[in-house]
Amino acid sequence: MTIEKILIANRGEIALRILRAARELGIETVAVHSTADEDAMHVRLAHEAICIGPPPATDSYLSIPAIISAAEISGADAIHPGYGFLSENAHFAEVVEAHGIKWIGPKPEHIKIMGDKVAAKKTAGDLGIPLVPGSDGAVDDINIAKDIAKEVGYPVIIKAASGGGGRGMKVVNSEDELETQMKQAGTEAAAAFGDATVYIEKYLGDPRHIEFQIFGDGNGNAIHLGERDCSLQRRHQKVLEEAPSPVVSEEQRERMGKVCVDAMKGMGYRGAGTIEFLFENDEFYFIEMNTRLQVEHPVTEMITGFDLVREQIRIADGRELSVTQDELEFVGHAIECRINAENPRTWAPSPGKVTGYHPPGGMHVRVDSGLYAGYSIPPYYDSMIAKLIVYGRTRDGAMMRLARALDEFVIEGVQTTIPLHQKLVYDEEFQSGEYTIKWLEEWLEKGGLD
Ligand code: ADP
Repeated sequence: MTIEKILIANRGEIALRILRAARELGIETVAVHSTADEDAMHVRLAHEAICIGPPPATDSYLSIPAIISAAEISGADAIHPGYGFLSENAHFAEVVEAHGIKWIGPKPEHIKIMGDKVAAKKTAGDLGIPLVPGSDGAVDDINIAKDIAKEVGYPVIIKAASGGGGRGMKVVNSEDELETQMKQAGTEAAAAFGDATVYIEKYLGDPRHIEFQIFGDGNGNAIHLGERDCSLQRRHQKVLEEAPSPVVSEEQRERMGKVCVDAMKGMGYRGAGTIEFLFENDEFYFIEMNTRLQVEHPVTEMITGFDLVREQIRIADGRELSVTQDELEFVGHAIECRINAENPRTWAPSPGKVTGYHPPGGMHVRVDSGLYAGYSIPPYYDSMIAKLIVYGRTRDGAMMRLARALDEFVIEGVQTTIPLHQKLVYDEEFQSGEYTIKWLEEWLEKGGLD
């Protein structure tokens, strides 16, 4: 390995995840942190830690000058951005590379294309990936919008080209609503993302969210690591993920995996990426590509035995992919629960001091978290505080292990979403695997938590 020291431009569980992979490769780590994260686990475990600013992310984790200075001061020769924050900021990737620092991520031009959903859809379509029917590109004329909506049929969804994180989407049920909703979507997108561009898609009634993990070496070689099912969502935010999907057949996995791999070979994609689809009536429709590591990557690691972060580092170091498609096997079943410091009923954030902490253990149980007893969860950042990942030889086995592990999990002092997952895992519909992206919200409305 030529990389000797990685600066981790992130916080929380993902900073720790990256630190662990680096350590296992014998690479030194530099943690950067805001003043709110002085006591964070990854800060304690890193070889070096540098404070880069006050709590607001704009002044610390999103501050490119602060992070680059920290890299120069510490002599880091690579930067891993994690997910969120600057991970999909093409400009940051360019600045990193311009400073002669290795960027543990995709080529900046690919980050840029995929970050613009209109350009992403066009690129994906050109590379042979099936798309959700809709506008060919951005739409700013109401008459054109009306024609497209009529052609694909209502309901349609208006999406912000620069949207993300489940925000910037509006469902329109009929032509009378179209004009006002288009205007509102544009205004909101401009305010939230600094870009008023919107486009139109057919709104699929009851799909599942299925995504393929891919890896490229940047020289035209690529592999896929199967799919993850992320259909359990609330307000378009993922709550629980599993791999493989309970409804994707081996034939479908092979077929779509190949479509994704061919597209990535065509692009010359480098590093880890996720191609997201909606899946309805046995058809896949591309919605977006994430040019980074995903929160839910551990379920893929569990069923493949393949360390995705280690591979990201190797690829950034200029190595070849460490496995061929034929060498990869998908064995067993894995489920991940996102555990947030939130009231499970109102979803109101619940930051504060963790007075007691006992993570579950035992066979095939993995907890990715920076928590410890006495740690104070700061109120400034995302409320996800832990990921519980379990593996089983079968889906039923994984669910039984999940129930057991959730019962062992103790987090005191703050409210968490553990009770939600405890209810879910015993629900017969969840157990049947027959759920779609609307299912969780309907289940909550029907009193699933009672
Ligand atoms: P983001 O980048 O904000 O996550 P996505 O395009 O990935 O946006 O969409 C997020 C979620 O929104 C999807 O998982 C799905 O639940 C819903 N969604 C997006 N597009 C459609 C569509 N055409 N029809 C129905 N639901 C959709």
